[in-house]
Amino acid sequence: MARVVVIGGGHNGLAAAVRLARAKHQVTVLEARPTPGGSAAGAEFHPGYRHTGIFHDASTFSDVVARDLGLRITRRPLPDAVIATAEVARTVGATADLPDPAGWAAYRKRLDEVRKYASTVLSEPPPRTDADAPLLPLAKTAWGLRRLGQATMMELLRIGPMAVEDWLAEMIADPITRAGLALEGLHGTWMGPRSPTSTATLLLLESLRGQDVQGGPAAVVDALVDALKTAGGTLRCEARVARVLTKAGRVTGVETASGDRIDADHVVAACDPRHALLDLVDPLELPPALERDMSDVRARGLCAKVHLALSGPLELAAKPGVHERILVAGQPNDLERAFDQVKYRRFADRLPLDIRVPTASDSALAPAGHHVVSILVHAVPFVLDEGWSDATREKLGNAVLASLEAVAPGVSGRVVASEVLTPADLADRFGLPQGHLWHGELAIDQLFVARPFLGTAQYATAIGGLWLASAGTHPGGGFTGLSGWNAAGRL
Ligand SMILES: Cc1cc2nc3c(=O)[nH]c(=O)nc-3n(C[C@H](O)[C@H](O)[C@H](O)COP(=O)(O)OP(=O)(O)OC[C@H]3O[C@@H](n4cnc5c(N)ncnc54)[C@H](O)[C@@H]3O)c2cc1C
Repeated sequence: MARVVVIGGGHNGLAAAVRLARAKHQVTVLEARPTPGGSAAGAEFHPGYRHTGIFHDASTFSDVVARDLGLRITRRPLPDAVIATAEVARTVGATADLPDPAGWAAYRKRLDEVRKYASTVLSEPPPRTDADAPLLPLAKTAWGLRRLGQATMMELLRIGPMAVEDWLAEMIADPITRAGLALEGLHGTWMGPRSPTSTATLLLLESLRGQDVQGGPAAVVDALVDALKTAGGTLRCEARVARVLTKAGRVTGVETASGDRIDADHVVAACDPRHALLDLVDPLELPPALERDMSDVRARGLCAKVHLALSGPLELAAKPGVHERILVAGQPNDLERAFDQVKYRRFADRLPLDIRVPTASDSALAPAGHHVVSILVHAVPFVLDEGWSDATREKLGNAVLASLEAVAPGVSGRVVASEVLTPADLADRFGLPQGHLWHGELAIDQLFVARPFLGTAQYATAIGGLWLASAGTHPGGGFTGLSGWNAAGRL
């Protein structure tokens, strides 16, 4: 039985901790915040109104992890998404309502083919790539690709490097549908729909997606905390780790900000890898090249989060009724122009919005007849020319409301309260590097064997007993639990 300290009680830290505690290790999770869950934690953002996680989509949570850890969660079909503009609404999901059903069918068929291969690659640790690496795991990965069949394999190699707008345009004639689908693949990427390789990130995120979870990410966090207690692990909140202690190239424990020392045989860093390696470890213990490798990892946040408490439903002009998932992306060019602004450290007047209305399936989250609207806002830079302040936060809130008002006229009059979290707020509140959702951009040079960078992709580090386990490691994007679970498996 080893003594293990897990730094960070986000969903990956908890998944790692449960796996290790169930394997009879003595596990202590140290979380800096007052509550566990990291950016997946639910919260009351205004008296009487709760959201179910800063990030609101639980559909990427891995079935493999949930089953292995015995989590008590209830899966349910992912609600269909309404892609809305002022004039039209398209529905995509299990039931599609589109002007272009054949294009949608072709898109779904391609995703199903990719998913078969990707689901295995994404749920296992990536193979080693060093000179002494055994060849079998590498060959297994290549063989999985080959088994897709010659035509599908070649097609996958062709489309991966493409701009997502170009790829979608090969199948889907309707630009509004294309913009909505593209938006879902742009989260956590420094890309617009015309950026090369944006197809690969859409395929990655869609491959991770399965059924939703009743109660959203917050319900997964509750189930992980329960499973940790049952397995005999310990969770300490308001316990920020200030140092990872080492001796002769091996971890010996950690020291918290309040000066407590906890001895450990292994330390699992389920926080941002840059913070773990560059802030918490004595620089003299790290190989000289590591600082450069870690500093080169790109993590430029470009997402903001807005929560609205509404005195009534969010009514789309083009599709009345209550909808749980709504995408506001306009046309592909609108999406591209929104990203253009980010490059120049500004945000657009009209912003792409990925919306969840959790009260559509759980009315207890708000007073009777009222609703909670959870908005993930794309294309808002961490580094803003004017700088982030109360004034720029208010300007962002107004731009989000104006973008929403354009598709749901009258919504502004129903706002009881709002919470606007800029990328800088996300960085401060959740320890996210530059406010980046996944502790490192999803880009093809920062995925798989290169996440966070070549040489550490197997969750191990140059320091004996120090492991990386957050979304900054493979498979990265999405709320999967796989990074933590894989790291624990390696340990
Ligand atoms: C606004 C927003 C929207 C998102 N939307 C989506 C979405 O729609 N779909 C999707 O799939 N994903 C989304 N995500 C991403 C998803 O939330 C992340 O991938 C995931 O939560 C990362 O989990 P994690 O456990 O690796 O890290 P985190 O959730 O970041 O947890 C790390 C934890 O470590 C703690 N910590 C850091 N340093 C220390 C220290 N020194 N000592 C102790 N504790 C420490 C932090 O407080 C935090 O609780 C979103 C994220 C954000 C922020």
